[in-house]
Amino acid sequence: MEQLAKAERLDHFFEQVKSSPINRRAREFLSYAAMSQETEPYLLNTQIVTMHPTAEAGMPHTRPPNIICMPKYYPEERREHTLNHEIIHIDQRNRRYKWDAFFEREGWKRISEQDIPLRWLQRCRMNPDTIDDRFWAWQGRHVPLPMYERDDRPDLRQVSIQWWDKETGIRQSQAPLSFQQRYGSSPSQPEHPRELAAVELARIFTTPSDIDRYLNSK
Ligand SMILES: [Zn+2]
Repeated sequence: MEQLAKAERLDHFFEQVKSSPINRRAREFLSYAAMSQETEPYLLNTQIVTMHPTAEAGMPHTRPPNIICMPKYYPEERREHTLNHEIIHIDQRNRRYKWDAFFEREGWKRISEQDIPLRWLQRCRMNPDTIDDRFWAWQGRHVPLPMYERDDRPDLRQVSIQWWDKETGIRQSQAPLSFQQRYGSSPSQPEHPRELAAVELARIFTTPSDIDRYLNSK
């Protein structure tokens, strides 16, 4: 079976996109397709699939079990760094127990979709790298929500992180102080602990064994 079709059977990503009006509209004019059936092997048994340049608005991403989707014409000078970020996502899905324990040690707690007020949940961007485990609360309380800036014209690249405080019900764009103390005042991709970890680890990544070194260091 074709790689992306196989991935869809595992994560149901587009099935979920279709059931969410704002996520469906954000992808209305994008073409989610592989440019060819050929794949290129990469580290940790992954396979790179070259995608149509508009797939997920040209953002590299992963699909299960081991597929890295890279847009065609991706800048060569950023390629290796990005691939290393992406294999971390593959590992996060494949060794979820290990990553979950790590996130918990860092101070995150998983929360269920049903806990999020529907009016905000409905405006959150779906991300293939986190679709199987979408929401986590920093210190069990502060939940980053990747919300489309415009609900009339949703754009995958126009998303801002809103912090929902489960305890007070307040939603604001400023991250809590304790989060800033851990990750800095403006980390890239604060939307999810998987993204924060992938960004942090890709910076020091030279070989796959660095993943375990990182996980065991905290
Ligand atoms: Zn990522």
